Amino acid sequence: MPANTLLTTGALTGQAQSHVIALSAPPQPTQQQHLIHKHAQPAFAQLQTRAKQAGFNLDVVSCFRSFEQQLRIWNNKFNGLRPILDHDSQPLDSAILSEEQKVFAILRWSMLPGASRHHWGCEIDVCDYSALPTGYQLQLIPQEYDEGGYLAALSTWLDDNIADCGFYRPYRQDLGGVSREPWHLSYLPVAVPAQHACTLALITETIRNADIQGKATILANIEQIYTQYICNVAAAS
Ligand SMILES: [Zn+2]
Repeated sequence: MPANTLLTTGALTGQAQSHVIALSAPPQPTQQQHLIHKHAQPAFAQLQTRAKQAGFNLDVVSCFRSFEQQLRIWNNKFNGLRPILDHDSQPLDSAILSEEQKVFAILRWSMLPGASRHHWGCEIDVCDYSALPTGYQLQLIPQEYDEGGYLAALSTWLDDNIADCGFYRPYRQDLGGVSREPWHLSYLPVAVPAQHACTLALITETIRNADIQGKATILANIEQIYTQYICNVAAAS
């Protein structure tokens, strides 16, 4: 367990919150208070200041997420209460999918509870709400951040500036696991040791103890899920 990152086993799996603090300014438009890892907070504040100087508001869409929150997302998708999206961000008809197909379809866009990098508090989904047209609902799909999208200018700025503050984008490419997520930033000094500490044994044990939909199917495929989705992120360079 990486002592210098404050990440106990509970913190790594989102079941403790001793490693996170409140982000100072509530974001628009939800006014929800986000929590961030204590060590990532100063670096993110610096990145926000730099963004402001370049003409962007670096708003937080999501930062720390608890195990319970991730479990709710997972179970709602599995039960059909939330849409499961395909590779092109279009809703799938989950009624015709097998349990195994459903698990792997959900994993494209939503991580297993206990294995989400958002548990660590050093992962931040960002946007610039001021760049969106009035009334537009952010969907967090790559098209919004790609050339021609409302957030393309922000994305280009992120390309050139996040490394200076210690951040990188683990999902900048589709590597055959989690879909491309250009909005997802990761603070390396915490994320690198956290990733090492998230072992297959820890994730397996966490799922075994969870009240999660599709548990038997998940556990039957846990090694593939671990390799293809949990560990399969872009290199940090
Ligand atoms: Zn994210």
